[in-house]
Amino acid sequence: MIAFEGLFLIYLTSAVFFILSIKGLSSPTSAQKGNFLGIAGMILAILATLLVIPSRNDAGILFALISAAVLGIFWAKSVKMTALPQMIALLNGVGGLSSLLVGMAQILRHQEHLFDTSIGIVIGAIAFSGSIIAFFKLNGMYRFKRFQYANFLNIIVLGVLIFCWVQFASYNTISWAYFLILTALIFGGTITMPVGGADMPIMISVLNACSGFAAVGIGFAMSNIVLIITGALVGASGTILAAVMTKAMNKSLFQILFLKDLQTQNTDMEDKIARTASIKDAAFLLENANKVIVVPGFGMASSKAQYALKNMTFLLENKYHVNVKFAIHPVAGRMPGHMNVLLAEAKVDYTKVFALDEINPDFETADVAYVIGANDITNSAAQSDPSSPLYGMPILEVFKAKTVIFVKRSLNAGYAGVENPLFFADNTLMLYGDAKKVTEEIIAEL
Ligand code: NDP
Repeated sequence: MIAFEGLFLIYLTSAVFFILSIKGLSSPTSAQKGNFLGIAGMILAILATLLVIPSRNDAGILFALISAAVLGIFWAKSVKMTALPQMIALLNGVGGLSSLLVGMAQILRHQEHLFDTSIGIVIGAIAFSGSIIAFFKLNGMYRFKRFQYANFLNIIVLGVLIFCWVQFASYNTISWAYFLILTALIFGGTITMPVGGADMPIMISVLNACSGFAAVGIGFAMSNIVLIITGALVGASGTILAAVMTKAMNKSLFQILFLKDLQTQNTDMEDKIARTASIKDAAFLLENANKVIVVPGFGMASSKAQYALKNMTFLLENKYHVNVKFAIHPVAGRMPGHMNVLLAEAKVDYTKVFALDEINPDFETADVAYVIGANDITNSAAQSDPSSPLYGMPILEVFKAKTVIFVKRSLNAGYAGVENPLFFADNTLMLYGDAKKVTEEIIAEL
């Protein structure tokens, strides 16, 4: 057994581990170390809690810990790279749910700080139900559209939520706690449902921040320093990420939640003809280029083309002395940093990987933009068509390259459901097929 002062010090140590972990995760070179520091901090916090807090059911806690750890390890090992965003959405939700349950346990035991506890409960419930809806959307199981009275419904639900909260604060009864939880759960769902496809990354960051702030609320209610610090870290990083992404997409959170309506455009694209290229054409263009910019998107992740891509760029650089760079859009793929993770996994030199602002001026002097499984992040309608749902979102300006090669399986739209006029541009060549297979065939040709 260790004393409570000892517990405080251990919690503080694990909080330092978490801070160092976030620092480590900010660069591909130190990300793995950052992950291990985070794991160490979490193990330390759990062990310290088990040693100090008296429990009436050691066997039950041990069973829960071991089974959850086995489930977590199995899940993380078996999850496909393309399903990582859904997993993250669910983990956010589980974070919110645990704050909700811990807060509820506090209330049921009639402890003090009931109002403090309700803050964690409400935010936790919103994070939980919102994340479940985000999971369904990311999994492609539902494509909710903004319905006509979505804002009206949200205002009504928010009004009921505030009413229940005031009642709970005034009377502190369990029944008002249940009403509060129910309305917070409904609000999390109704506020997430209408968010458009291209805006989901921002919503996920917001929900992530909510799960952190819920833990802060519960941490204050329970005077638990490690919950307050870790919750604040998650809340702050989620908020910063959401702010960075809203800036990157040239939108405000208000616009995403209440205004912007994403609807699939009905244009006359069917009448237009897209020019196609063969593997031979693509190989010829690539080996004769001085500068090639590779633009990866969700399709690269989906077909696991990153290894072939790495081999192709190695050949281009070493056999044909082509200057190859990689361009990463902040919302490429299905989760923040998705492309960076995959390229790092394939050991692509990260000094050749550039963010949107850094790389955009380079397209004008590029001979080929090799767009592999990307679509929305290059959609020129975001700049040229005020009626486009993507209008205003900064894009990778691939259209400025001498030739644009789009590697994808069809002319189908991307996640946002918006057609891409760039497919029909004079300097675009469509190279149809699976991203990995096409890239391997180009390697063979090279
Ligand atoms: P998109 O979803 O816009 O486009 C991906 C393209 O990849 C599709 O048009 C598809 O075309 C093609 N594709 C799919 N599978 C394959 C394959 N096996 N081989 C070759 N091509 C394939 O992806 P982007 O990365 O361009 O943009 C990301 C979108 O996702 C944005 O709208 C963003 O807002 C949204 N989003 C991003 C999140 C994030 O955090 N990054 C989270 C949630 C959503 P085809 O079917 O013709 O092959």
